[in-house]
Formats: sequence, C-alpha cells, structure tokens
Amino acid sequence: MHYEAVIGLEVHAQMSTETKIFCGCLTKFGSEPNTQTCPVCIGMPGALPVLNKKALEFAVRAGLALNCGISPMSRFARKNYFYPDLPKGYQISQYELPICEHGFLEIVADGGLKKIGVTRVHMEEDAGKNIHEGAGNSSLVDLNRAGVPLMEIVSEPDIRSPKEAAEYMKKLRTMLRYLGVCDGNMEQGSLRCDANVSVREEGSKGLGVKVEVKNINSFRFVEKALEYEIKRQIKAIKDGGSIIQETRLWDSDAGITQSMRTKEEAHDYRYFPEPDLAPIAVRQEWIDEIRASLPELPDAKRQRFVSSYSLPEYDADILISEKPLSEWYEEAVNAGGQPKAVSNWMMGEMMKLLNEDGINIENCPLKPEQLADMLSLIDKGTISGKIAKTVFEEMFRTGKDAESIVIEKSLVQITDKDAILKAVDEILAKSPKEVERYRAGEEKLIGFFVGQAMKLTKGKANPAALNEILKRKLSDK
Ligand code: ADP
Ligand code: ZN
Ligand code: MG
Repeated sequence: MHYEAVIGLEVHAQMSTETKIFCGCLTKFGSEPNTQTCPVCIGMPGALPVLNKKALEFAVRAGLALNCGISPMSRFARKNYFYPDLPKGYQISQYELPICEHGFLEIVADGGLKKIGVTRVHMEEDAGKNIHEGAGNSSLVDLNRAGVPLMEIVSEPDIRSPKEAAEYMKKLRTMLRYLGVCDGNMEQGSLRCDANVSVREEGSKGLGVKVEVKNINSFRFVEKALEYEIKRQIKAIKDGGSIIQETRLWDSDAGITQSMRTKEEAHDYRYFPEPDLAPIAVRQEWIDEIRASLPELPDAKRQRFVSSYSLPEYDADILISEKPLSEWYEEAVNAGGQPKAVSNWMMGEMMKLLNEDGINIENCPLKPEQLADMLSLIDKGTISGKIAKTVFEEMFRTGKDAESIVIEKSLVQITDKDAILKAVDEILAKSPKEVERYRAGEEKLIGFFVGQAMKLTKGKANPAALNEILKRKLSDK
C-alpha cells in the first residue's frame, strides 16, 4: 500500500506596522519588557480598541497579491482561552467574516507550476510572551508583543510533500517582503507556521485525520517536522493503529514531534463577534487604490528578467528572491553592464563578500554603476577577468571606483607582446625539464607554464596573448 501526504499550512505573519493593531503602542522588536504597553494592549477593563488602518491596508495588500477576494464586509471576533500571556482572556481575531478569502499562490513543483489554494487571510492580534529563564521558579510575562498585528494566511490542503510545503513558505515570505507588509524575519518570529498533515492511500479522494504541528520557525524545520510526522503516521497505520486528531509540538533539538494536547475545536473557543469594534466595510475605490499601488510581484519579475535580459531561470530566481537585490541588478544593467556578466558577478563574488561580512544588499558599499564601470574595463581589455576579482574586492572594501584602483595598484593588463615574450622566455629557461616533457607530448603542462607566467606578471598578462606566445615558443625547437 502506498500512502500520500496531505498538508495545509497556517502561516502567521507579523505585519510591519509601526504601531499595534488596536492601540498606539510601538511594535519595535527587542525593547525592555513591558515598555511598549498601554491599558488597551494589557487588557485593562473598559479600555477600548481602535483598528489601525495601516494593518487593514496591509492585510488587503497581501490578499490582493494572493489573488483573494476582499470582503466588502468583514468583522472581528473574540477567541476565548486562558493563558498568562493573554491578559484579556480572549484574542481579538477574525472568524466567520475574514477580510480576504479564496485566493491562491503558485509554487514550483516537479518542474512545473502548481497552484496552492489560499482559504483565507485574516487579521488578529499577537499575544505576549512568557519568559521562563532567569526567574527561578517563577515565569515572567512580557506584553510588548501583545496587540502586535498579525495576519494569518491559511492554505487549502493542496500541498503534497514537505518540499512543497517549504516552497510554499519561501514563496509566501518573498511575496510578503516584496509587498512590504512583513519583514519575514523568522528568527525574531515575524513569520511562523503551523503545519496540518494527514496521510491517505494514494489515489483516494477522502481526507485522513489530521495532526497540527506547531512551533515551526524555519524552512528547514517545515520540511523536517513534516517528514518526521508523515513517517510516524504511515507507520502507525501500517502497524494497525489509527491517527488521533491532536496538536503536536515540533522539537527541533530532538528532531521529533510530540503530542501536546488533543485538538481543540472551534466551539471550545466560544467565538463571538467582538462587540467593541464596528464591522469593517471597505470601499471598492480604496481596494482599487491599493491594487494600483502593488509592486511588480516576484513571478512577473522573474519572467521579465528571463525575457528582457535573456537570463537563465536559475539566475533570475536568485536575483528576484529579494526586491532590493533585483533593483540593484537592474541599476547595474541600466548603467551599461552586460546582463549575464552582471548576474555572474552578483551571484558569485558579490554574494560571497556580502555573506562574509554579514551585510545585506541594502548596505552594500559597492554601487551598481561601479560594477558596470568595472565590467567595461574588462571589455576594453584594460584588466583581465582574473585581475577584476582583485579590483572587485577592493571596490567592495573601500567603495573606490575600479579605475582609481587599477591605477593606484598598477593592475593594467599587459597586452604588450614584448613584455609577455620576455616573461615567457624567463619561465622556459627556468624549467627545462617541463619544457622537455611538454615537447615529448605532455601537453597538459601548458597549465603549469601559464601559472608560472601569471605569477611572474602578477596576474597581469593578457591570457589570450600569453597562451599564443607560450604555444609558439614551446613548439620552436
Ligand atoms: P481546524 O478547524 O482544525 O482549524 P481547518 O479546516 O480550519 O481546521 O484547517 C486548518 C488547516 O488544516 C488548513 O490549512 C487546512 O488546509 C488544513 N487541513 C484541513 N484538513 C486537513 C487534512 N485532513 N489533512 C491535512 N491538512 C488539513
Ligand atoms: Zn497598547
Ligand atoms: Mg481553522
């Protein structure tokens, strides 16, 4: 019997608004505990919430980009439960009338495109945070996060493998970052995911009993947690057991999921319409305005990069993965850089240096025009491709232009035949044995001579001229 996995993801994305969803407190991460709070977000009786319009706009932005319909009438609901990080005893969320519904997100699966249905996007407030370390036998509660706006993006159970789940999450993250509605910082918890998974006999249409896996905060863990859970479920069924609907916790250290509680049902939460907030009616003109302000989205940009710049899909994929990276790329091309050459330098040397220094493209000391200028020096033959690496790194470190670096460090390529000839003569005179072996047919030794000559000329010999002269000299008897 073969089994297949059925997966649906619930992603919580923290919206990057400056203030909280129902009060004016700041959302800034990492401040002293409980310094970003007020009577509304710590749940003082009688304090009234007021919806942050920016949060609504961000949810609509995300919904439109995810091909959802925007509900003309939507409202908040109270989700009641008790936990120390939830001072009101309920979370303000949306339930039967979410702001966005019935969309989809396209991911790459098995080389083709696959649509994953987006059931809904709704707004809700985050809870606070319990801190168990450093307080002896007590726990502390930090309410800075209470009331920070979240959107929950719920997918249809259209995902069929852990890999697809990771793809979906990556795509969603890129999309939200393009839209500017969530910074996607997974370490800080700005993007978290609960994964629902069941298994069924391959080919069957019905759905198996699902398990919800909580506490997933990286792409790798989505895959790992789901792989583990799918194996566990298949084994349980094959062993003659059955799956119970439950909530399990992903333990990334142990690499396993562990039962946390049996699954709660919607009625356990006693959802009811939030009486302190009026229903939300959004005007069509406002939706149109938001639609018109959407940036070019990653898929459209990838296609354009492939068709306008003749880039391989692979390059385009990497370059569009972050909006600022794609903008840097286009600026370099617009400054005259040959599209594929710019891509190569960015994906190779530039990413390497950025990674080494742990900085992102927004803070890249090198400007796009500077790369274009350097490429033109290679084209003109002023510097070789090899020397260009030195120049590039120097530009990156100092922010100076390629031209000044070339002059300062006298890196101009030696194209003068006599100078190269002199170097070649010197090398050949120093290596009579290798010359003999080469002449006896060991032609791969050409690499050795090239290396020696480059060393002697500090890498400045024009490679084509050097090769030609070497070969000619070596064949003279
Ligand atoms: P609940 O009522 O438990 O919250 P929902 O129907 O709201 O369940 O679905 C929550 C998530 O679980 C969604 O992402 C949905 O796609 C997914 N899901 C629902 N049923 C299944 C199933 N049988 N197997 C896997 N995922 C499922
Ligand atoms: Zn507040
Ligand atoms: Mg649900």
